[in-house]
Amino acid sequence: MKTEYIELNENQIDSGVIRRAGEILRGGGLVAFPTETVYGLGGDALNPESSRKIYAAKGRPQDNPLIVHICRMEDLAPITEEIPAAGYALAKAFWPGPLTMIFHKSILVPTETTGGLSTVAVRFPSNKIAAELIRAAGGYIAAPSANASGRPSPTLGRHCLEDLDGKVEMILDGGPVGIGLESTIIDLTSEVPTILRPGYVTQEMLEKVLGTVEVDRTILGEETNLPPKAPGMKYRHYAPRGELVIVEGRQEKVIQYINHACEDYAARGFKTGVICTDETAQQYRADLVRSAGSRDDEESVARCLFRILREFDEEEAQFMFSESFDRAGIGQAVMNRLMKAAGHRVVQV
Ligand code: AMP
Ligand code: MG
Repeated sequence: MKTEYIELNENQIDSGVIRRAGEILRGGGLVAFPTETVYGLGGDALNPESSRKIYAAKGRPQDNPLIVHICRMEDLAPITEEIPAAGYALAKAFWPGPLTMIFHKSILVPTETTGGLSTVAVRFPSNKIAAELIRAAGGYIAAPSANASGRPSPTLGRHCLEDLDGKVEMILDGGPVGIGLESTIIDLTSEVPTILRPGYVTQEMLEKVLGTVEVDRTILGEETNLPPKAPGMKYRHYAPRGELVIVEGRQEKVIQYINHACEDYAARGFKTGVICTDETAQQYRADLVRSAGSRDDEESVARCLFRILREFDEEEAQFMFSESFDRAGIGQAVMNRLMKAAGHRVVQV
């Protein structure tokens, strides 16, 4: 299949392109598109054949459910069995935006879209290209992140092309995404609302609206023997092709350890990479040194992480090290992705 690649400006959206993309989706085809979190790989959420195609294009395991994207609050009721009060409260506070809520699904949603589950994950994105595309597609787009399964999520249009060229009908390039990490997922079907995946909307923000919110214990991998509640969380994810290790401890010690290890690998002919911050970047000696921004700017770290991991792949880095980040606020989401990318390998120095 020939993949059409089209650049769009979020502030001046070409309606002809959106119309055509909508036709592709309504006809059962696939379109990758920007959202405020990461790029999504979209298909008609109510068409089981489209969902099957999404799994095939990504190489995604069939039991890893997709998120259904909507663009109007009134489109939520038809796909859910019931909307608890918490759902309305969270929608009022965070939609449109980077929050996904899990509800009991209605019969309108095929189990192909939900990975066989009786629940459905729903998000209302704020990106204008995403919103117009969802409307043009008929109201419901199933979209996981637009990466090949296991790879870091795409934060640029060209990342989608790298992973999906020849596998989707169209890619809409809307420029760099704003947030850079996938949406926060909260399960509203459990007794106490539970965060299944941390994101830009933090536990503190959710608790301000709902009172107590639980966090799934497997999120930071502290108890990896527990089965994860979000089916997707059991899979290796976000990983670069080489080996990544997180190094934790006092700053001077971390720098010393990483430099030492990199010299060691370099002497054996391996290519090395470091993920660090503006404050420390000058002090590293590795083949590839990449700052994710200032340590004080957590949002910058979130926005840069996946792009840096992909750059390491492009440069064929074999051994990589990352500084560790504070787990408060959005840091919880950053460390969740980083831990997965590193296969939970952490060295304390
Ligand atoms: P992705 O779209 O690639 O960011 O992945 C979607 C995430 O949402 C995966 O981790 C899924 O396991 C999770 N998810 C989607 N639907 C459900 C659901 N009904 N119950 C629990 N987790 C879900
Ligand atoms: Mg994903």
